[in-house]
Amino acid sequence: MTRREREVTDLAMILDFLNKGKVIHLGLCDGDQPYVVPMNYGYTMKDGELTFYLHGALKGYKYDVMRKHPKVSFSIECDVHPFPGKVACQYGTSYSSVMGKGTARVLENPQEKMEALSLFMRTQTGKDFEFNEKLVSIVNVIEIKVSEYSAKQRPMP
Ligand SMILES: Cc1cc2nc3c(=O)[nH]c(=O)nc-3n(C[C@H](O)[C@H](O)[C@H](O)COP(=O)(O)OP(=O)(O)OC[C@H]3O[C@@H](n4cnc5c(N)ncnc54)[C@H](O)[C@@H]3O)c2cc1C
Repeated sequence: MTRREREVTDLAMILDFLNKGKVIHLGLCDGDQPYVVPMNYGYTMKDGELTFYLHGALKGYKYDVMRKHPKVSFSIECDVHPFPGKVACQYGTSYSSVMGKGTARVLENPQEKMEALSLFMRTQTGKDFEFNEKLVSIVNVIEIKVSEYSAKQRPMP
């Protein structure tokens, strides 16, 4: 990582970024053509293992791509605040961000989909919601098991 002094390794800070981010920029590979799609997410962090849960309509280009090539990259940011300077190169943007790589799969098991959507709603709203088989049958749910990630923060000057 360039600007290594901005790297964040404190788990509590990383969880704070993940709670605030709300939107994941999911990078997929369609052959030699990258495809980036913004989506909302839920997550769990268990024993250092980060997993994301996304949901959407039953059809779409992103599923076609990830079924062919399940390796993904992602980027999440929060605390984004542009700041001014006296000269052009002093202008900048403060941010907190998490980036990484992982493997995606579309969940088929209704029980897994219900649990994933509860986690999704917890991350997005801070509230607990319950789902039933009928509700989860009308959406696709994506699980992303993260193989590596890093976090970085640029504070306000
Ligand atoms: C902040 C944010 C949060 C979102 N959260 C979710 C979510 O949680 N779940 C979800 O399913 N979708 C979400 N969306 C919409 C998402 O970005 C996609 O539009 C949607 O998932 C369809 O993607 P697809 O690959 O299936 O595209 P398709 O509907 O199959 O369409 C393919 C083509 O449409 C165009 N396209 C698709 N999406 C976009 C876009 N966002 N902007 C411009 N052009 C586009 C591209 O040219 C793409 O190649 C969110 C969008 C934003 C901006």
